[in-house]
Amino acid sequence: MSRLIYLDNAATTQVYPEVVDAMLPYFTEHYGNPSAIYSFADEAERAVDHARGEVADLIGAKKDEIYFTGGGSESDNWALKATAEAYAAKGKHIITSAIEHHAILHTAQWLEKHGFEVTYVGVDEDGKIKLDELKAAIRPDTILISVMAANNEIGTIQPLKEIGEIAKEHGILFHTDAVQAFGHIPINVDDMHIDMLSASGHKLNGPKGIGVMYIRKGVKIRSFIHGGAQERQRRAGTHNVPGIVGLGKAVELAKANMAERSAYETKLRDHLIERVTSEIPYTRLNGHRTDRLPNNANFCFRFIEGESMLILLDQAGICGSSGSACTSGSLDPSHVLLAIGLPHEIAHGSLRLTLSEKTTLEDIDYTVDKLKEIIARLRSMSPLYEDFVKKNGKAEA
Ligand SMILES: *Cc1c(COP(=O)(O)O)cnc(C)c1O
Repeated sequence: MSRLIYLDNAATTQVYPEVVDAMLPYFTEHYGNPSAIYSFADEAERAVDHARGEVADLIGAKKDEIYFTGGGSESDNWALKATAEAYAAKGKHIITSAIEHHAILHTAQWLEKHGFEVTYVGVDEDGKIKLDELKAAIRPDTILISVMAANNEIGTIQPLKEIGEIAKEHGILFHTDAVQAFGHIPINVDDMHIDMLSASGHKLNGPKGIGVMYIRKGVKIRSFIHGGAQERQRRAGTHNVPGIVGLGKAVELAKANMAERSAYETKLRDHLIERVTSEIPYTRLNGHRTDRLPNNANFCFRFIEGESMLILLDQAGICGSSGSACTSGSLDPSHVLLAIGLPHEIAHGSLRLTLSEKTTLEDIDYTVDKLKEIIARLRSMSPLYEDFVKKNGKAEA
């Protein structure tokens, strides 16, 4: 059996063939350096400019507010570190949330070691940021609020417009890590009062190693990667022309298909959630029931250890994830699941399944059937489950 069901689209996505086709000529034919003077490089320069326009259009920005980076992590590092540096004279306090990606959390922790103070605002049991806690955290020396658009583990979508309004009211810059949301749900930087935004190519069927940073005109952050004068002197390094072209194509496709894709994925996601929560006992859905990414489902199964579940799913040809790709390999449960209030032993039994528009109903049904077998098998080997059943009796599936 060589079936492959890829349900880890929050970790990375397949590059669309149209994207690869758009990229290829920029390796072999139009390989010139877009910064060069001679006309041979004009086509590369034109292609970079075109991709910049596609990206700007997707989020309602201006072309010259878009900067290409080496990925989502670089954009997140840049946003936090460069804002801290540029606005240190105004204040040294930053607000973020407890459920950010590690590209934000670890950068914030680094800043704490370098003279800045960070407040990590909590979330409710659905993973929504507590707005009253956010407001209460604001101080005269707060220079930045950074809250992700949608969570990479539990899929919860944050109220960006409300957060943006709060930031604006207090004259504080607002950055959002939109890596999971970009191209998947609508975002408008003006409506939502966003000053800076991070995105990444490989989370929307584009190539890996290419990212975006949106910086609103007037935000005074400087370069983070030093060297040449590329990207209006704000991001040195020869342009990754094929990567930029691929990202531009992925954005163009995402824009054209967003409504249709989101409706399709939401339908499949809800079918998955419905079957898993009704057919597997002692299961909980993590994340907001409706304000969640169209392709995200995240569950906790009691008496189950996430890693063993993933190994057995893999043997059935199913790719899923427990926590995020970055936390697997560590024994700590996900910081996101702890932040929504789950105890350690429950957070350990988590499974994230993230779909794509290529996922079929048949894939989902096969996955749920396998999952039921796997959970029953693992529970039958669990002393904790045995004790529980002795005390409470067995639940009907
Ligand atoms: C994947 C991801 C990142 C990191 O992006 P890379 O391009 O892989 O560096 C940052 N934030 C979130 C929310 C992500 O999902």
